[in-house]
Amino acid sequence: MDTEVWTQVIVVGAGNAALSAAVAARERGAEVVVLEKAPRQHRGGNSALTVHMRFPYDGMDDLTPLLPCTPSEDLRRMTDRIGQYTHSDYYDDIMTVTEGKSNPELAEILVNQAVSAVRWMHSYRHTWVPTYANPVSANVVSFNGGGYGLQEQWFRIAERLGISVYYDTSAVELLQDSQGKVTGVRAKTSQGYCNFHAGAVVLACGSFESSPEMRARHLGPEWEAVKLRGVPYNTGDGLTMAMECGALPYGSWSSCHASPQDLNRPRFDVPGPDIRGDFWSRYSYPFGIMINLSGDRFIDEGETWRGLTYAKIGRAILAQPRGIAFQIFDRKHRELEVIRGYEKATGFKANTLENLAQQLDISDVAAFTHTVREFNAAVQQGEFNPFQLDGKSAIGITPPRSNWALPIDTPPFEGFPVVCGMTFTFGGLRITSEAQVVHTMGYPISGLYAAGEMVGGLWHGNYPSGAGMMAGTVFGRISGTNAAEEAFQMSR
Ligand SMILES: Cc1cc2nc3c(=O)[nH]c(=O)nc-3n(C[C@H](O)[C@H](O)[C@H](O)COP(=O)(O)OP(=O)(O)OC[C@H]3O[C@@H](n4cnc5c(N)ncnc54)[C@H](O)[C@@H]3O)c2cc1C
Repeated sequence: MDTEVWTQVIVVGAGNAALSAAVAARERGAEVVVLEKAPRQHRGGNSALTVHMRFPYDGMDDLTPLLPCTPSEDLRRMTDRIGQYTHSDYYDDIMTVTEGKSNPELAEILVNQAVSAVRWMHSYRHTWVPTYANPVSANVVSFNGGGYGLQEQWFRIAERLGISVYYDTSAVELLQDSQGKVTGVRAKTSQGYCNFHAGAVVLACGSFESSPEMRARHLGPEWEAVKLRGVPYNTGDGLTMAMECGALPYGSWSSCHASPQDLNRPRFDVPGPDIRGDFWSRYSYPFGIMINLSGDRFIDEGETWRGLTYAKIGRAILAQPRGIAFQIFDRKHRELEVIRGYEKATGFKANTLENLAQQLDISDVAAFTHTVREFNAAVQQGEFNPFQLDGKSAIGITPPRSNWALPIDTPPFEGFPVVCGMTFTFGGLRITSEAQVVHTMGYPISGLYAAGEMVGGLWHGNYPSGAGMMAGTVFGRISGTNAAEEAFQMSR
């Protein structure tokens, strides 16, 4: 027989969006239960593999309180580099990368509530450190201890507030009353099935990136066997359960966030104290060139800030022969210290381009060397500056090159094979500004909220780095607050 548990608010998932929701609901005074599919030792979701969240700031006065562990020397150095990132910069970045397709209402909520959400997190003793990588664009600070540190702090807070977290517990079905109001969740636990009953449910259990079947169905067959950058748990369960209750699918179900990853990265990652989510990421491509197995370039590597391009580059790599590309650099890149985080990268080094191409198994060596020399000849004069969009371009070639173009002509040459790594899918549910899930008939489904990757409509085709975690906290907080209010109304 099923076990029965009663509470006021159920949150499904235990990533950043879910724990933001759980804490916000508890703050309102609700009794909260969190259901998490992963075992305790791998808790934290994709959120525990992240680096930063994107929010507006107006100089160091806004940032310094978030950086209590940063030596004053580093703060001084930061001051020289940090300008401001305004609300309208943020909104424009979202609209630029999504080609104007982001839902304006959701984008405005994200942008306008980001700063207060960061302050709210800070009030719970979340802290940040300066981002040392370059170019950093808007993400000038990173989570202290990475996403793992952030999530561990959320779990400490949850424990302190008396929020119960059930691990190894997969939500499988939403419970509804005869009017269609969501009244709970049926879940599979290690002991068997359990019915959790509540006044409101927040779904924050990720999108469908970890389901080969859903990837193939919505993104295309080439995505079926793609490597995941994150956890294997986000298999679209929340989306499926909600749609079975009539929830409206929304946003871009045919696109996703996918970035360049080391050829030898594992098929997925799970959070742990020694796991760095960006360990396999190969993000120095804006400074070198990327070439496929046929020896051709296929993107403008320096189109703009890396944080505004990397999420669409995985798709471009997947479209190349055998889904592989090579990032090519020379000695100048090493000396300028723009190849960062590649200490353990799969890579090859050679004193000639021909020898490098052979080591990389590029089928057409002549095409490869021709592409590099053609690129070199197209590089324009100008000062190379990794901290700015320096406009140092390469012209008259296809694809063009907009920034950070340096000729690849000084041995040793280096080549790094990369593949597409799936980060998360953009398809989600339609929500209201109160984070209530909307029915296909247009009305909010009573008792049902969504946050995090499950929110559809924000991202289309591309995405600005750091915005996923920020959206998770903003909509998580809204959903938790409103779920608690609805639960109280039910019990009155
Ligand atoms: C390697 C990596 C690095 C990233 N870096 C950044 C970054 O620096 N900045 C940024 O903004 N974004 C980053 N992202 C994207 C970011 O992780 C997501 O946008 C964000 O985590 C979404 O948070 P979430 O809470 O919705 O999902 P998650 O953190 O993935 O949480 C979902 C949780 O739901 C659980 N779950 C799934 N199904 C069920 C079920 N049926 N029942 C119960 N629980 C379930 C999962 O186990 C998981 O714990 C990165 C992603 C990856 C993979």
